[in-house]
Amino acid sequence: MIKANDPSLKSWIEVNPNCDFPIQNLPFGIFKTQSSSARVGVAIGDQVLDLAVLNKLGYFNNLKIGEAVFVNNFLNDLIALGKPTCSALRQRISDLLNETNAELRDNKEAREKALQYISNVQLLMPVKVGDYTDFYSSIDHATNVGTMFRDPANALLPNWKHLPVGYHGRASSIIVSGTNFLRPKGQTKPADVDSPVFGASKSLDFELEMAFIIGKPTSLGETISTAAADDYIFGLTLFNDWSARDIQTWEYVPLGPFLAKNFASTISPWVVTLEALEPFRTAGYEQTPKVLPYLEYTGNKNIDIYLEVAILPETGTETTICHSNYKYMYWTMEQQLAHHTSNGCNINIGDMMASGTISGPTPGSFGSMLELAWKGTKPLPLNDGTERKFINDNDTVIMRGYCQKEKVRIGFGEARGKVLPAL
Ligand code: CA
Repeated sequence: MIKANDPSLKSWIEVNPNCDFPIQNLPFGIFKTQSSSARVGVAIGDQVLDLAVLNKLGYFNNLKIGEAVFVNNFLNDLIALGKPTCSALRQRISDLLNETNAELRDNKEAREKALQYISNVQLLMPVKVGDYTDFYSSIDHATNVGTMFRDPANALLPNWKHLPVGYHGRASSIIVSGTNFLRPKGQTKPADVDSPVFGASKSLDFELEMAFIIGKPTSLGETISTAAADDYIFGLTLFNDWSARDIQTWEYVPLGPFLAKNFASTISPWVVTLEALEPFRTAGYEQTPKVLPYLEYTGNKNIDIYLEVAILPETGTETTICHSNYKYMYWTMEQQLAHHTSNGCNINIGDMMASGTISGPTPGSFGSMLELAWKGTKPLPLNDGTERKFINDNDTVIMRGYCQKEKVRIGFGEARGKVLPAL
């Protein structure tokens, strides 16, 4: 048995070198077809492996997992089996897909039942999200926003380097890639009028983020240390925290984001396990001033995930407008989770915790239109000859991301969302 992350592994299923889903990835998702109900699948190349079918055919007999775990609208029940079981399942899938393993490879009937092209299935929300928290943990993003809206000399507020700032978001409007949504309407106060007005947002933005999914619950009063935090993180997805800047500007004082953020957040459909990402850990920022003891951590806890954002207008082709990386986070996931639970706040399986906009140090790496077009002062040119300060009606915003090392690419697929005109 070769370990599931081994870069030398090859599958009998052909995987293009630029594909996000080689045998070393094996991300989990939920899909359905015209003839089957929602079920758990794993992406391999351009295909999805139906775990409900494989389980029924006895391929997972040693793991003793009930059918209801796999024929399911969400991954929550699978995740609830715990990391040792999920890890053993991922290892078993890796073994079955290994080019030297004939069990499934040479069983034509089982293979035909268990494999579908991703393009032929519908990918659904992978998890039932109970609670969603959004952090604000990129130092370049926080510095850019502070520079634009407050004081370039004191761009970061006094608390920023002492705790991972966050707020509680809205779980009900988290949607899976490919789900279109209406431009939000709301109350704004344009600078040139005395009273607020109500109408469609004029400055709709995206925020390039990653989100991690909670894989193990805690009880009220329990805390999680930075050292133990990884045990509670199942995996990650791409996350677009759509934001209406004009609504946000008027409503956010003093309690922070509300209707400017909760109309939609788009995630990628495949949950890449933390286990698959471990080979891509990298050093984090040197945190100065020194953080309080409950936020201290050791080891490489950032992850080197290349990220990009493209805009696809209604007619025309995509323009990639941002190249960033998850390694630019100042606060790590482990610190975010330790902080989140430091007061005894309990967490549940399926909760999502998003990073906050991930901006890098250079203008081309900024993770929102607000920063890329610098508050509308530097419109971005698109391939079709038009330009954007914010996102237009019928624009599709596409986020992509992947880790790459030794010819192994662990990717996330896409978080894609199209903005329809307000009703
Ligand atoms: Ca955000």
